[in-house]
Amino acid sequence: MGMVSQRFAPFGTTVFAEMTALANAHGAVNLSQGFPDFDGPEFAKRAVERAMAEGRNQYGRMQGLPELNRALVGWWKRATGMEVDGETQVTVTAGCTEALAATFLGLINPGDEVILFEPYYDCYRAGVAMAGGVARTVRLRPPGAGEGADGIVRGAFEFDAEELKRAFTGRTRAIVVNTPNNPTGKVFTRAELGLIAELCVGHGVVAITDEVYERLTFNEDRPHVRLATLPGMSERTITLSSLGKTYSLTGWKTGWAIASRELSAAVRSAHQFLTFCSAIPMQMGAAEAIERGEEYVEGLRKQLGEARDYLAGVLARVGFRVFMPEGTYFIMVDHTPVSGGRSDVEFCRWLTTEVGVAAIPPSVFYDDAEGGRRLARFAFCKRMETLRAAAERLERLRK
Ligand code: PMP
Ligand code: GLN
Repeated sequence: MGMVSQRFAPFGTTVFAEMTALANAHGAVNLSQGFPDFDGPEFAKRAVERAMAEGRNQYGRMQGLPELNRALVGWWKRATGMEVDGETQVTVTAGCTEALAATFLGLINPGDEVILFEPYYDCYRAGVAMAGGVARTVRLRPPGAGEGADGIVRGAFEFDAEELKRAFTGRTRAIVVNTPNNPTGKVFTRAELGLIAELCVGHGVVAITDEVYERLTFNEDRPHVRLATLPGMSERTITLSSLGKTYSLTGWKTGWAIASRELSAAVRSAHQFLTFCSAIPMQMGAAEAIERGEEYVEGLRKQLGEARDYLAGVLARVGFRVFMPEGTYFIMVDHTPVSGGRSDVEFCRWLTTEVGVAAIPPSVFYDDAEGGRRLARFAFCKRMETLRAAAERLERLRK
């Protein structure tokens, strides 16, 4: 790591690159990094081909192509009932990853505190560090009880309200809320978001929401609620999302930020120097996907719901304590009934190289690795035949 800056040296190589490489090297069924092994809608791909053939191959506007900004304004209206101005309030980025980086860099001053729920998606911590901010974490704890006869725990990861209140200080600039939540599968309730909103308003804090799994919820009684729609929040929320999960097009790396004019100006101040604009043909495809993709999304949600139930059943039968996700395409388990005392990193590496199924060790999503030591994360955004192949291999773990 000799040449790596002090800023990034603590983060090493991201666990996603590491585990996918390990899975590939050992021919493991890759349930680690979250990407589908099936394709997004044909009509969206055709739109990209058309855009290229028609010469849409040069730089576009910094804030996003008018076609995509308009599509996002329409989507936002359908999703929230709220009007935004596409020219000044919608910013198209290279995936949600860039939207996050641009938001941190454009909003955070050195020494500002940013509250993260832990376990956190790994790029938040690096993003806060990039901006010279200080992360403060609030723990999401697995449900203690609620295990069904099938060995599956139904009940969400939860935070302690007092711990959250204590995390807000005079230096808090922002809080990141990822719902539906990676890696826990939690969908934040309206009441939980209400408390977050109240604290944000009370302390003059900006909310950064990561909603990349906004369409991937599986329980009728836990619908996705957008923090921006709560009282007092539209002016202080930067809503981030992307095309990848909703339309199974993770490689297109097309994302966006929706926020007030002032907060959008902060995001754009950094976006203009990070990428200036994201790939233009993909933006045309993204506009098409958003405008014509409802049927695809509904089908995907149903398919993933079935995949979730199947994989949860497999994992529980093998002996894991399974925390049933309400959204996203990940299942968290307590691996210790199967692994004995091994750490998550040891267990996930062993599972990949010896059993032939790759999973993510979640300790990297905690400040103190101990927090994730007992856990493993499995992705179910895969074809049934892939999940069946994983199931066959996992059978070997059965006591
Ligand atoms: N946020 C979360 C919570 C994610 O799980 C992911 C990626 N899978 C991203 C952001 C990054 O999204 P994108 O691929 O659009 O950059
Ligand atoms: N978000 C994906 C996951 O959680 C990974 C994306 C990435 O590789 N950066 O698995």
